Amino acid sequence: MTARHVTVHKPPEVAARANLRDYEVTRAAFTWASARAELDGLPGGALNIAHEAVDRHVAHGRGEHLALRWLGKGGEVRDLTYRALSEETNRFAGVLRALGVGRGDRVFALLPRVPALYVACLGTLKNGSVFSPLFSAFGPEPIAARVGLGEGRVLVTTEALYRKKVAPIRHTLPSLEHVLLVADASAGAERPAGTRDYEAEMRAASASFEVVATSPSDMALLHFTSGTTGKPKGAIHVHEAVVAHHATGKLALDLHPDDVFWCTADPGWVTGTSYGILSPLTHGITSIIDEADFDAERWYAILRDQRVTVWYTAPTAVRMMMRSGAAAARAGGAHALRFIASVGEPLNPEAVLWGLEAFDLPIHDNWWQTETGGIMIANYAAMDVRPGSMGRPLPGVDAAIVRRVGSGVEVVTSPDTEGELALRRGWPSMFRGYLHDDERYAKCFVGEWYLTGDLARRDADGYYWFIGRADDVIKSAGHLIGPFEVESALLEHPAVAEAGVIGKPDPVAMEVVKAFVSLKPGHAPSESLRRELLGFARTRLGPAVAPKEIAFLPSLPRTRSGKIMRRLLKARELGLPEGDTSMLEGAS
Ligand code: AMP
Repeated sequence: MTARHVTVHKPPEVAARANLRDYEVTRAAFTWASARAELDGLPGGALNIAHEAVDRHVAHGRGEHLALRWLGKGGEVRDLTYRALSEETNRFAGVLRALGVGRGDRVFALLPRVPALYVACLGTLKNGSVFSPLFSAFGPEPIAARVGLGEGRVLVTTEALYRKKVAPIRHTLPSLEHVLLVADASAGAERPAGTRDYEAEMRAASASFEVVATSPSDMALLHFTSGTTGKPKGAIHVHEAVVAHHATGKLALDLHPDDVFWCTADPGWVTGTSYGILSPLTHGITSIIDEADFDAERWYAILRDQRVTVWYTAPTAVRMMMRSGAAAARAGGAHALRFIASVGEPLNPEAVLWGLEAFDLPIHDNWWQTETGGIMIANYAAMDVRPGSMGRPLPGVDAAIVRRVGSGVEVVTSPDTEGELALRRGWPSMFRGYLHDDERYAKCFVGEWYLTGDLARRDADGYYWFIGRADDVIKSAGHLIGPFEVESALLEHPAVAEAGVIGKPDPVAMEVVKAFVSLKPGHAPSESLRRELLGFARTRLGPAVAPKEIAFLPSLPRTRSGKIMRRLLKARELGLPEGDTSMLEGAS
């Protein structure tokens, strides 16, 4: 029997302990109002994510419980209790206030996974300001585009990152008034001009701060995501999103008060914020933060030594671990895992089952995206798993497969029929806009439905199965990459006339970025030019976004209206049928 045709049944004792014991029953009873009632709120109907994530646990007598355990690259460990986290985040809020940074002002972080990143996020929210995380592997161009679009007033980063990636573009960012530098190993004796010392500012600030009474609809988080065309999009999330962070932590990740939780995602991406910072804290549990990059041995040791009970990771990481075999996972002694989940890309059925071999637990796939702010479709602890399926919609979330018909949509009712995945608008962590781009936001909705841009099907029992993206965005190692951003960077090279970028299938990363370029007259393809272009793109875009492969073409296929036909480039790359090419320039 292949992995595609098995069902992983859950033993009764697992169901008995789960927060969601019976899917249908929980779904029928669930309301977002009851989920909100599990949180404190602030007087006068105010709601602030940071209060729910930190201070309320101190108020409820859990101040000495461990909130964050940080594992440094070099073996250092730093523990922060809820009380300590409350004080640190108060200080950061105070630093912002002293700088004159207030409600609605945007605070960006460009940091590795160090405690300051977590403190800056929560302190920013306490101050009523808006937090926007940037992936530290971005190069100067993605950073400039995002801070510029988001009108960042404050940036928290390290000296090394500042010198390499921010200093060269700072003059293009007039809104950026304050840069706070967190000490790192490379910090020189003299701080770069126009920057402040994070630690000194924190020491000078008070450990007390009254959390700003934000309204549930105030902007809290700005997460940049990529589209097929144009600049990155700033998805706006509001304080009310915390209701979904909490409810999904409970229902989809099955968090219990005694859990030790490890989300391996970087907070530069939405998973690393919603679940790497916020959701576990709203549950008052302990989160593990690992500063280091992926390393199978290190990860197994963390799972075992930190007694991780709930682990939220990504298919690329699972596939990399699968390479070293289940025996490697089992070596070194018993683990404490109770629940494993994964998100960000399709989780192959084989990977679900590998979890059983390696940890005696299936890996539970779940689905969501930057715009949804939290998990929308999931495999639950007490529900049987159909390997390869993303699971069933969260209680409180209505999903459907739809087909676009004219300017409307039609819900597809027949099972196992491909269509676009849609969600009925109105869940608390739904994005409330794309910053400065109402038109693009409006285009995501047809009537009551939010159209996700993903193609999927629903089986007769209500399980959803991912088919692919409806657009050209690329998913590489779980990170969404906009082809336009990569093409724009390549076009800055004097030899490049045209650039078209696709995701090339890859057994581990799912896709890798591949660029096709044609050259301007006077330039000829060569190995040295190819290498120069790879380096050029990497310097500008950073390793997370830059192409891994570049191929030269005499010219790129374009539509009659002049758009590069990425789909055709991809079909040719894969040796697939070229589909409808009647729109191709030059076609008769
Ligand atoms: P992002 O906004 O960067 O989190 O990327 C969201 C996109 O990742 C979705 O629209 C999907 O295309 C993809 N994705 C997320 N979770 C899954 C999953 N479980 N299976 C397949 N694709 C997924």
